[in-house]
Amino acid sequence: MPKNSKDKDIAEVVSKKCSGCQACVGECPVGCIDIVDGVAKITAEKCIGCGKCVMICPSDAILFDKPVKKKAVKTAEVKESAIAQYQGVAVFIEVKEGVAADVSWELVGKGRELAHKLNTKVMGFLVGHNVKKIASAAISYGCDSVYVMDNPAFEVYVSRVYGTALTELCKQVKPEIFLIGASPLGRDLSSVIATKLQTGLTADCTGLDIDTQEKLLMMTRPTFGGNIMATIYCRNHRPQMSTVRPKVFKMPKSDSTRAGEIVPFNYEAQADPLIKILETIKIDAANAIDITHAEVLVVLGKGASESKHFPMFEELASLLGGSIACSRPLVEAGLLPYVRQVGQTGKTVAPKLYIGIGVSGAVQHMVGINGSEKVIAINNDKNAQMVQVADYSIVGDYAVIIPELIKGLKARVPNFLIQGAK
Ligand SMILES: Cc1cc2nc3c(=O)[nH]c(=O)nc-3n(C[C@H](O)[C@H](O)[C@H](O)COP(=O)(O)OP(=O)(O)OC[C@H]3O[C@@H](n4cnc5c(N)ncnc54)[C@H](O)[C@@H]3O)c2cc1C
Repeated sequence: MPKNSKDKDIAEVVSKKCSGCQACVGECPVGCIDIVDGVAKITAEKCIGCGKCVMICPSDAILFDKPVKKKAVKTAEVKESAIAQYQGVAVFIEVKEGVAADVSWELVGKGRELAHKLNTKVMGFLVGHNVKKIASAAISYGCDSVYVMDNPAFEVYVSRVYGTALTELCKQVKPEIFLIGASPLGRDLSSVIATKLQTGLTADCTGLDIDTQEKLLMMTRPTFGGNIMATIYCRNHRPQMSTVRPKVFKMPKSDSTRAGEIVPFNYEAQADPLIKILETIKIDAANAIDITHAEVLVVLGKGASESKHFPMFEELASLLGGSIACSRPLVEAGLLPYVRQVGQTGKTVAPKLYIGIGVSGAVQHMVGINGSEKVIAINNDKNAQMVQVADYSIVGDYAVIIPELIKGLKARVPNFLIQGAK
């Protein structure tokens, strides 16, 4: 095994096997790995021989003979006989200021598909105060039953209060699958519950399905910086928990004639003694930007980041009744706020029309636009990924194309529509 000048055994990269995924770069505690020409390169003098890169490498491209100590992870495995007691697909019905989050209904819709494959039922887990109407709505969207915890202590979301209550509900009802929307609230809550139940949680899934042979939930999400789609199983723990962002799954149709059972869950809710809510500050919903609800998005990429052209992009968006969104480089450059970012680390969007201007179509961007109905690419590179996958592409310089589009739209769109657009 090679050694460095400090006589430390060092890891060695097998270039032919390395996919350049960067997993080892992120894992190395001393920053001694760089990707050079698409291949990992270890700086021998910096390497401390910890072997962490070997453990993380998905292609077995790093050699290191020294035995690497695996961390002993303390888990509470649920025995096979106990696993059989867990039945049904549960969905957390998120409520904010008396309104249910759309992502909860999207998950109820997906939950129905999963439940069908498992020949089981869909349950809504509803926590809040004065939420009777929402319980009925949950049935109309596809729940077979809704477990309701209605208590003034649940008026405002507090992690520990909600987390403890839902953990108790899971222990009693024992769902085999538990889905939660990856909203800011859902992200916080899901980790509290998974930790309390000592089960696995796959966050930000982009796909959910059932392995029909093993009857297990297949949770798919991007990993290693979006370069690989991983399908994760939770074999030995229950429930199998997953969070999914808004707009990843389609909204099911509501049917007010559906029958279902509303089950009040007896639980002594306690306010958190450590938290005192002084004031709740309401978001100005009218002025808040929410690109996830836009029907038309004009998405600016690095190739369209000259701020002198922003009024032109705004005009195009306005003519189409849409909003401006962007790829990550524009947020990193401070040109647009994070709330406008589309993609893996931004928002998942599902507009009727997505127009990508100067967006190359990197995988981390594309995972956020899968639900778009029609995609138009405006790009000066005919080989760009976005041009390849778009429904329609206009190849050329946007500075020439956009003024022509605006001219054409103005000629077609009646005046009242232009004024009415936002
Ligand atoms: C862990 C991780 C998470 C990430 N998350 C996200 C995310 O959430 N969202 C995201 O967007 N990215 C994300 N990225 C970054 C992503 O990998 C890409 O770097 C990014 O999406 C590229 O943005 P872009 O397409 O705007 O820029 P580029 O890739 O630089 O593409 C610019 C495009 O503009 C075109 N162009 C240039 N000039 C013109 C012109 N005059 N007219 C027309 N076309 C022109 C070029 O041909 C090119 O195709 C992430 C990366 C990592 C590692």
